[in-house]
Amino acid sequence: MNKFEALGLGEAIVKAVNDMGFEAPSEVQEKAIPILLDEDTDIVALAQTGTGKTAAFGFPLIEKVDHTSKITQGLILSPTRELCLQIANELKNYSKYIKGLRTVAVYGGASIHDQSKEIKRGAQIIVATPGRMQDMINRRMVDISNIGYCVLDEADEMLNMGFYEDINAILSHTPDEKSTWLFSATMPKEVATIAKRFMQTPKEITVGHKNTGSKNVSHEYYVVNSRDRYAALKRLADANPDIFSVIFCRTKRDTQKVAEQLIGDGYNAAALHGDLSQNQRDLVMKSFRNRQIQMLVATDVAARGIDVDDVTHVINYQLPDEIETYTHRSGRTGRAGKSGVSMVIVSKSEIRKIKSVERIIKKAFEKKEIPSGEEICQVQLFHLANDIAKAEINHEIDAYLPSINEVLEDFSKEELIKKFFSVEFSRFHNYYKKAKDLNAVREDSRGGSKNGSTRYFINVGEKDGFDWMTLKDFLKENLDLGRDDVNRVDVKESFSFFNTDSEHQDKVLEVFESFVLEGRNVNIEISKDSGRNRGRRGRDGGFKGKRRSDGFKPRGRGGRDRNDDRGGNGRRDRKKRNDRR
Ligand code: ADP
Ligand code: MG
Repeated sequence: MNKFEALGLGEAIVKAVNDMGFEAPSEVQEKAIPILLDEDTDIVALAQTGTGKTAAFGFPLIEKVDHTSKITQGLILSPTRELCLQIANELKNYSKYIKGLRTVAVYGGASIHDQSKEIKRGAQIIVATPGRMQDMINRRMVDISNIGYCVLDEADEMLNMGFYEDINAILSHTPDEKSTWLFSATMPKEVATIAKRFMQTPKEITVGHKNTGSKNVSHEYYVVNSRDRYAALKRLADANPDIFSVIFCRTKRDTQKVAEQLIGDGYNAAALHGDLSQNQRDLVMKSFRNRQIQMLVATDVAARGIDVDDVTHVINYQLPDEIETYTHRSGRTGRAGKSGVSMVIVSKSEIRKIKSVERIIKKAFEKKEIPSGEEICQVQLFHLANDIAKAEINHEIDAYLPSINEVLEDFSKEELIKKFFSVEFSRFHNYYKKAKDLNAVREDSRGGSKNGSTRYFINVGEKDGFDWMTLKDFLKENLDLGRDDVNRVDVKESFSFFNTDSEHQDKVLEVFESFVLEGRNVNIEISKDSGRNRGRRGRDGGFKGKRRSDGFKPRGRGGRDRNDDRGGNGRRDRKKRNDRR
């Protein structure tokens, strides 16, 4: 028997699930679905983002509603327009073999009359943002007095956004005997309160540790002076040429500003926040999904729950005000079994907050250094070389080869390579060669040697099966050094960097002079920028890389066309939160 059938799901859903390529239920689905199918019970389900919560409530909801009746039977509340659409689309996919079942999404920023018409045509399931739902209730455009099921999705975030009163009011229009299903990634006390207030002895399901992030995500932090935040962000991006990232800022203004700066500096970046029009947000998300945008700068709310696979890095440009939110941010990466990195840029005064986050995610952060200009140049050079090696040859050039050969005939291969790289690379290099150390100077206890520290380049990396821990072990072992003698190990795809006290320099070079690992020569070079904190001067700014895409032209600020999920006139005092969407 199919594993979804075994949970008690009917043929139509199983077939649709098959089409979607789901092979087995996720843990939260396995736990929630049988309960929700068998019993009419309230439930609180906690599972981190990306664990398939939508199907965990979507499948049973679809099974339970009567598709032959047009009455609205299920209401799903979700914090943002993007999530509403995402959920409605998923539900439509799940129910595509069930004739007559209609799911309608309602949210702010779009015509309320169109949405009202959709509902009038019959909607057994409505997916709504609380603000718009309230409006529609007040205008008598919906009738939820007969619903049997109410789902509160991303409950923690809805409460964060100040939707408590709306939820309260909406639920007062629903019958007492309905079932309430609450899904959340975290369980702050506000969620516990809502569970107490609106639910009757709910069953509780927890997947993994409460409030724990994905195990595929590693967490890093970087300490810089506040004024260097933006420059540090650029370095992190440049040190990861294949980056596909979500960058979180605290406010809409910062989000817009950082995105504009990045675009100005030639990156494929865009902003996503609640001041953009609906069209702009759709355009941004589309460009992000198909990789025209490499760096999506977003507020927490706008990016909440957005489900894009393959995000390589989450960068916390600033830490969130509520540390619980960190789980959601880092959950944007490490999805679908892939690994991801969540980076936090902090100033010295914020370091203690890292400890609080560690307690919540139950994982340790690794303190890392903002890469030096020299290091970034090395990374980019190798990246370019790899790209060239991997490139497929375009034979349309063949016709011009004789004349090109003539121009280049006097150069050796080596010279050609050098020239080629100079053309491609000089601007980058010129920009970074003057770049200063961005790491906030610290009271250096561990690297406190009188002789300073030496940074090395080594030509083994991830593709040789190393990560920073295994490479550190490998180095310690072969160099016969102690636990703290090898540090700042930074593993890239085909090479890595590390530091030792300079007193070990001769030994390091000697050991690796003719070192062979699995048939390959291992080379070590001293990275030119080996000493840190030498007070190099120079400013980050102005470099225009090759990243600018011609495909996507970001629009200006979305001033006029405000997309407020509350669909109305900001009735309540929400000033404090208002800049975070
Ligand atoms: P959450 O709400 O917990 O953050 P989603 O419901 O958005 O997670 O699901 C994340 C992704 O996983 C979606 O792309 C969804 O289609 C996919 N997914 C859900 N359940 C399964 C499954 N059983 N097998 C494979 N993929 C799944
Ligand atoms: Mg979800």
